[in-house]
Amino acid sequence: MQQSEKLFAAAQKHIPGGVNSPVRAFKAVGGTPVFFESAKGAHLFDADGKRYVDYVLSWGPMIAGHNHPAVIEAVTRQLQKGMTFGAPTALEIDLADKLCERVPGLEMVRMVNSGTEATMSAIRLARGFTGRDKIIKFEGCYHGHSDSLLVKAGSGALTLGVPSSPGVPAALADHTVTLTYNDIEGVQQAFAEIGEQVACVILEPVAGNMSCIPPVPGFLEALRQQCNLHGALLIIDEVMTGFRVHPECAVGRYQIDADLITLGKVIGGGMPVGAFGGKRKIMEQIAPLGPVYQAGTLSGNPVAMAAGLATLDLLAQPGFHDDLFAKTTCLIEGLQARADAAGIPMTTNHVGSMFGVFFTEESSVTNYQQVMACDTERFGKFFHGMLDEGVYLAPASYEAGFLSTAHSDDDLNFTLDAAERVFNTL
Ligand code: PMP
Repeated sequence: MQQSEKLFAAAQKHIPGGVNSPVRAFKAVGGTPVFFESAKGAHLFDADGKRYVDYVLSWGPMIAGHNHPAVIEAVTRQLQKGMTFGAPTALEIDLADKLCERVPGLEMVRMVNSGTEATMSAIRLARGFTGRDKIIKFEGCYHGHSDSLLVKAGSGALTLGVPSSPGVPAALADHTVTLTYNDIEGVQQAFAEIGEQVACVILEPVAGNMSCIPPVPGFLEALRQQCNLHGALLIIDEVMTGFRVHPECAVGRYQIDADLITLGKVIGGGMPVGAFGGKRKIMEQIAPLGPVYQAGTLSGNPVAMAAGLATLDLLAQPGFHDDLFAKTTCLIEGLQARADAAGIPMTTNHVGSMFGVFFTEESSVTNYQQVMACDTERFGKFFHGMLDEGVYLAPASYEAGFLSTAHSDDDLNFTLDAAERVFNTL
């Protein structure tokens, strides 16, 4: 950690908080953020050369592990041809075609540079299409940091206790209605009261920014039904879940008929990429076809498209998701068994290759209130214990963890042995 400490001190001179995204600062768990130098497969190497088994995976994108040779080869090939043209390329067609083939309900798609841009643009499109202003979101879900969506948000906004950020105009926040995730009655009631003003409902189909909370049976169906009844659009934010919970994303796993879908992380293979898309008649309202404006200097960047395409090819290999999901189950069952043996009250959730661990006496965690009631101090001790052992978990209890296909049996056993030792110190 010596180098990380030096680097963190230096970073704070010209970078606010020493980081370019708040959760990286370790505010929730205390201590010095680890500065990394390189990565390979399931492993990160810090500035002192220490190795960590990585369950953050750059917050989700590295589904096939870091620096997969096929992705590196595709990126290197494209780099030699040019980094950006600000004009169309065949690579964009390829990626759009592949996404539309694999994601049910995706009939047209527009590439952007981040998940934030994807959800922000989808919201604008929903408002433009319906001619309505109000949006419904759920407490603890995070959809990036655009103004309309930074109201009672999850992820770093939870950790830092700024559910509504200064700088978001009250007049705009007024149009954002925040409901309780997994509360079907709450949704029905809200629609009964303001249904005719609602442009869209946006949600994470598996919430991954308040740890990992799957939808309860009937929740997604109720949202679709209420949107249909009241002429609102349903936006499924798959920035995190896309290709992580099912080969056809969450819309495939749960058979959701989404109007709009947002993507990011995995589809960029580690490059800064997002996308939004959905039903043709809605997407045709986007400029230049329609009046709803949306643009980007680097959108559809060829190097990013090459990384995304190479990653989608890896995902299409037979057994990719079966292998990934089996590894996740093995890790989660192993952690639970070791916590039980050590007498530590803990429960877990996992869906596909996303997971969450909760230090709580409760036997299951299905909503935001329960997540907020978990023992964050104990999580902090667990996090630091694991970090010392060479296991890198997300530095906040409100973040989902991820696996990659690069995690080997040795990596999983290494992690479980470490957890056994750490649980005994909690
Ligand atoms: N939506 C979801 C579900 C996310 O998890 C995130 C980021 N973790 C975003 C949107 C925002 O994406 P980005 O950080 O790329 O702007």
